[in-house]
Amino acid sequence: MHVAIIGSGPTGLVLGAALARRGHHVVAVDRDAGPDPDGGWARRGVMQFHHAHGFRPQIGETLQAEVPGAYEAWLAAGAEPITFTLPDGRTTRGGMRSRRETFERALHGVVAATPGLELRRGHVDAVTVEDGRATGLVVDGIVEPADLVVDASGRSGRVTRSLRPDAELSGRTGVAYVDRQYQLRPGAEPGPMTNPLAWQAELDGYQVIVFRHERGIFSVLIVRPIADPDLAALRHERVFEAACAAIPGLDTWTDPERAEPITAVLPGGELVNHYRRQSGLRGLVHVGDAVATTTPMFGRGIATSLLQVRELLRLLDEEVPDDGIGPAFESWCDREMRPWVADHVCMDGAMLDRWRGRDTDLDPDLPSDRVMAAAAVDPVIAESIGPYLAMLAGPASLDTVRERARRVYETGWRPALAPGPTRAELSAVVEKALAAPVMADRT
Ligand SMILES: Cc1cc2nc3c(=O)[nH]c(=O)nc-3n(C[C@H](O)[C@H](O)[C@H](O)COP(=O)(O)OP(=O)(O)OC[C@H]3O[C@@H](n4cnc5c(N)ncnc54)[C@H](O)[C@@H]3O)c2cc1C
Repeated sequence: MHVAIIGSGPTGLVLGAALARRGHHVVAVDRDAGPDPDGGWARRGVMQFHHAHGFRPQIGETLQAEVPGAYEAWLAAGAEPITFTLPDGRTTRGGMRSRRETFERALHGVVAATPGLELRRGHVDAVTVEDGRATGLVVDGIVEPADLVVDASGRSGRVTRSLRPDAELSGRTGVAYVDRQYQLRPGAEPGPMTNPLAWQAELDGYQVIVFRHERGIFSVLIVRPIADPDLAALRHERVFEAACAAIPGLDTWTDPERAEPITAVLPGGELVNHYRRQSGLRGLVHVGDAVATTTPMFGRGIATSLLQVRELLRLLDEEVPDDGIGPAFESWCDREMRPWVADHVCMDGAMLDRWRGRDTDLDPDLPSDRVMAAAAVDPVIAESIGPYLAMLAGPASLDTVRERARRVYETGWRPALAPGPTRAELSAVVEKALAAPVMADRT
């Protein structure tokens, strides 16, 4: 087959390389140039590229199975596999410590050298359609014919929007990231961690996360409600540093004696959840974030994207007729992907409600993060959440303990907030830092 892919993000790269390794001729088109020799990489319209990332085990596993050279290159670039010991003594994989840039640079380099695959720079203007079938792409005004068109254009790709139904599940979340990368100084130990990938704490009205990356590099991020105009000022270096110094845990991570910032502060746009169905056109498949976009606080996006890649490859390997690929892939996505987006819509809505001062709503299904929190006081719940946490089972796997957790909340119990300033107190820290005379830049 001649396959034309819109987008060379993680989805387009892994799928493109895997198809080329199966003997197909693949062209993946991206408007971004990819890495340059000076270490820079312009990624317009892909804001997540520059933000903090955690990498789940499914990502390394997919690379090992489909693009093993990329896994090796990722390790050579410094990515650190995480293993941890289960209560029963077995060890298990916990993902990878890496920056997104380190991951994509390693993947891009290996994929670019894959025989049978061309990474082309260009803007996809349209998908060509004849008799209800996608027949190729228009790239900068020139037609690129294809037997199969794959839309891997990500969460904000627009080129196929007119061909598809509107997002079936969609949620603006009202929250945004602001983050910065640091490097531990020689000999300094990492700060507190809540799990092998990250340190995560919810305070009164906002959340903080630390993702460890490779070689002592880590990202500190604050998840802020966008409705609060004061916290928008966290994008200023001195304000961000003052906020970190005021939040227990983050003060340890960002202590100038122990770590130094290596990037500017990076503000992000509003986070979204979307689930979009297939177009129904023969010869066109949507995959990756173009199907399921989830807010990143649980670091699920690349894992869900690559799980989709695996399923699409499975269908193609089985030689499902091309008018059957779209429907078969869609019903798998409905079953396996949609529940993750629905899970996030539920959790993120409830989180914003909490931050507005509303109590946990016990009437409808309890959000999954509240079920997980109840594991702190109920060992039966604690024993049941592992597969969900590891994304080995979907959100429905929590249903057996959701009612049990609801009863925990009915007793009046609520998860303790992490110690530190409330959102109003953080606003005061922000205001004070804004008013202080500007000091020399620490970077
Ligand atoms: C702030 C933030 C933090 C995140 N953190 C995590 C995390 O910790 N862990 C995790 O697993 N996931 C995380 N994610 C999600 C993760 O980034 C996505 O799941 C992942 O990027 C999806 O890959 P993709 O290839 O499908 O899409 P993308 O990475 O968005 O790639 C799509 C590509 O298509 C190209 N494109 C689009 N339209 C066109 C066009 N018309 N012509 C040419 N090219 C086009 C774009 O340039 C882009 O390169 C995060 C997301 C955000 C927003």
